[in-house]
Amino acid sequence: MDFWGSLEDLMSDRFIRLSKSCITASEKKAVMEVLDAGYLGMGSNVCAFENELANFFGRPVVCVVNGTAALHLAISAAGIGHGDEVLVQSLTYVASFQAISAVGAKPVACEVHPKTLTINLDDAERKITAKTKAIMPVHYAGGVGDLEAVYALAKKYQLRVIEDAAHAFGSIYQSIRVGGFGDIACFSFDGIKNITSGEGGCIVTDDKFVLERLRDARLLGVKNDSNARYQGGRSWSFDVDTQGWRYHMSNIMAAIGLVQLGRFPLLSQKRQSLASRYDQLLSKRSHIELIDQNYNLIVPHIYPIVLPNMVSRALLREKLLSHGVETGVHYQPNHQLTFYSQCVSGALPITENIFNKLLTLPLHPDLSLNDIDYVVDKLDLSLKELGYV
Ligand SMILES: *Cc1c(COP(=O)(O)O)cnc(C)c1O
Repeated sequence: MDFWGSLEDLMSDRFIRLSKSCITASEKKAVMEVLDAGYLGMGSNVCAFENELANFFGRPVVCVVNGTAALHLAISAAGIGHGDEVLVQSLTYVASFQAISAVGAKPVACEVHPKTLTINLDDAERKITAKTKAIMPVHYAGGVGDLEAVYALAKKYQLRVIEDAAHAFGSIYQSIRVGGFGDIACFSFDGIKNITSGEGGCIVTDDKFVLERLRDARLLGVKNDSNARYQGGRSWSFDVDTQGWRYHMSNIMAAIGLVQLGRFPLLSQKRQSLASRYDQLLSKRSHIELIDQNYNLIVPHIYPIVLPNMVSRALLREKLLSHGVETGVHYQPNHQLTFYSQCVSGALPITENIFNKLLTLPLHPDLSLNDIDYVVDKLDLSLKELGYV
């Protein structure tokens, strides 16, 4: 016992990262094959990745350069632009807000539900005006909240729904994968998301008009260039009738993404079991509140907790770091950022209150259950040292 105790101490220079890209020899091999083939841009690998993703979701998929570009293109293709308003929770990554303002529309900052940290529909409904054209539910941490109610509200007011599903790749709602139903869903394949293609993202929708606009708009608006590129060519004679962007995905990215998609059953199961372990250990602590998630159905991107008696998160994070545990904060409310200070009139008390109490614990597929136990030990120790318990 003493021996193992001291060995544990010796090994306590263990450092647990908040998140990381989890890459194996297979991804490296796939990238080398693209490099050897000498066609790095958008070509057959992107076509193959889109086809595999379409099988996964059961709907057409358009791949782009990152999740923010996916949101930007989706909003634009849905016909939202200057003077329009989009309802979105303030508690999200600034990417959601930037994608809305990128088309000249106004993000209208809404409250969240304190239990799921997804958009608060009572607050959102109060903020609907004649200019409101869409709602962007953010699937915080991988959970979707009451998505059925989001669609009911959208139907009532004839709004487009653009789901920011950056956290929710693989999550299941009412027996269907997120992205496999609804209006438009956008995913991110950023290095630390549920699957990665280095950077990258995709849009999933059934809307044929939107799909056509997305496919052209990611290639500078060049009409039908996607098909030429899938075959290793490009359009030399073409027309452009709309604004486009240089937002396509490369073969290098798609090669990584294809391998990650193949590994997804393992990656998702790992995330789910790690988050369940946290739940199991932390639910016994009365000074900690958990986010309401069902890890049999959702694939968590992050593991946030709420400390109702938080005094100084900065001090707590420093203490945890001194014990080898890196933590995060998801997210600074956007209406408190200079550029978005006009996105709400008045305060967002639920958001502002919960934000100060949020702390994100490490979660990525290269962690073990033992690492989770270690993090919880160090959290207990830090809270004790700081006089919380
Ligand atoms: C990651 C993320 C995005 C954007 O994805 P990128 O690929 O990083 O551009 C959008 N919204 C949320 C909530 C995210 O976490």
